[in-house]
Amino acid sequence: MTSTRSPAWLPGPIRRIHRWLRRIERESATRPGGPYTRATEWALILSLPIGGLLAFTLDELGTVENREVVAVVRLGRASRTAPIEARSIPLEEQGRAVWRDAIPLAEVLIERRRIEYGWPFPGRASVPPPAATALPVQAPDRRVDLTDDAAIAELRSTTGSDLTGGFEAVLAVLETGRRHEAVVSAMREGAVEHRRFWPSTIALVGILWLLVFAVAAAAIRLVQATNWMARRLRRRRIITRLSHGLCPDCRYDLRAERFPKRCPECGRRIWG
Ligand SMILES: [Zn+2]
Repeated sequence: MTSTRSPAWLPGPIRRIHRWLRRIERESATRPGGPYTRATEWALILSLPIGGLLAFTLDELGTVENREVVAVVRLGRASRTAPIEARSIPLEEQGRAVWRDAIPLAEVLIERRRIEYGWPFPGRASVPPPAATALPVQAPDRRVDLTDDAAIAELRSTTGSDLTGGFEAVLAVLETGRRHEAVVSAMREGAVEHRRFWPSTIALVGILWLLVFAVAAAAIRLVQATNWMARRLRRRRIITRLSHGLCPDCRYDLRAERFPKRCPECGRRIWG
């Protein structure tokens, strides 16, 4: 019996925890845990791989795209036959500055993009090369990707505005500025960079693990409660029928005999 007793020299609160742990140990030794407890324990374990799978599946959802204009360049020509020229303008003058080209063609927004994936918060991001989006003067409501030759050809045929060579001109003017070296090299390479945020991914797995487990545990509780209710109803029905002198299964009238061993109709054991 000394094993269940906490040593007297331990301070009060620790002794209490010690006693409490002992009691849990004792109770769990005598109570192996019903099927529902067992099921809940398994649910906790199995929720982890499911949570992990869900985290990586949800990685594809909930995309957030961040765009940030890092430079503004204007394309124009000195005359109808002159080559396309690019001129970098300050960001704050976007759409407002006075055009200095004899033939204004388009204002080009250089945007850094970052696409985040994951729900409820991003677990990874992809960073495509910065986009060069032209807003043609002839068609102010259109957005033309300067790297998209088909779109440039289409714009030329519909408005007569020729942006061919615009992308190279934009890169050249940004290079002279020296402020956008990283942007220019990313645009020249054209590679998409992928980043995973491991702490976020792990947190995501943890949250989804708990969510899946909570749902599973609730479902197990529901089944348990339903079973308990069904058993209770069945027991009550048996008692009611027996108290009326009827067989609990087939309702055969058993009142002819005082303590029948079995139901003569269906063979159910009654008092045997
Ligand atoms: Zn019967």
